[in-house]
Amino acid sequence: MAKGRYIKNAERACAAKARFETAQEAERASDYRFRAYRCPVCHHFHLTSRSGAATDPEPEPPKPPEPKGPKLADLDWSALLEPNKSKSARPAKPPKPKPPPPPPTRVARCLGPCGKDGRAPLLVEGRLVKSRKIADNRLKAALKKDLEVRIGMDDPPEVLAVLA
Ligand SMILES: [Zn+2]
Repeated sequence: MAKGRYIKNAERACAAKARFETAQEAERASDYRFRAYRCPVCHHFHLTSRSGAATDPEPEPPKPPEPKGPKLADLDWSALLEPNKSKSARPAKPPKPKPPPPPPTRVARCLGPCGKDGRAPLLVEGRLVKSRKIADNRLKAALKKDLEVRIGMDDPPEVLAVLA
């Protein structure tokens, strides 16, 4: 069985490869990068596709894949080398506390564009209120009469956003 496969491989190699009269000729043709071998099929010489396998008509079978897993070099040796800097020695951080819920907001009606002081006149729950100074220029420019805005609960209220 092994013999038959060997011959079959040799025949395939023979058909595919250049044929040389002598081993020297074959090796010279490859600039001596490859070794020549005598073909069991045509009894001429072919070149191995790898150097060093002079009698093997086929390249060496591929090595079985290395077992998966961390290589020695990939392992974290820092714990052994620097025990004081060991990651595991550090106390585990407590999980981050959940962010507080967003503060409540309310909706107000804008009574006009932003004033020169950066504050907008708002109608908040029936009361005329001046907003806190608005730092966001885009928000400032968007404010106009009869626009609904979302504001904070504080006083003076901060304009948070313009409602559509
Ligand atoms: Zn051959």
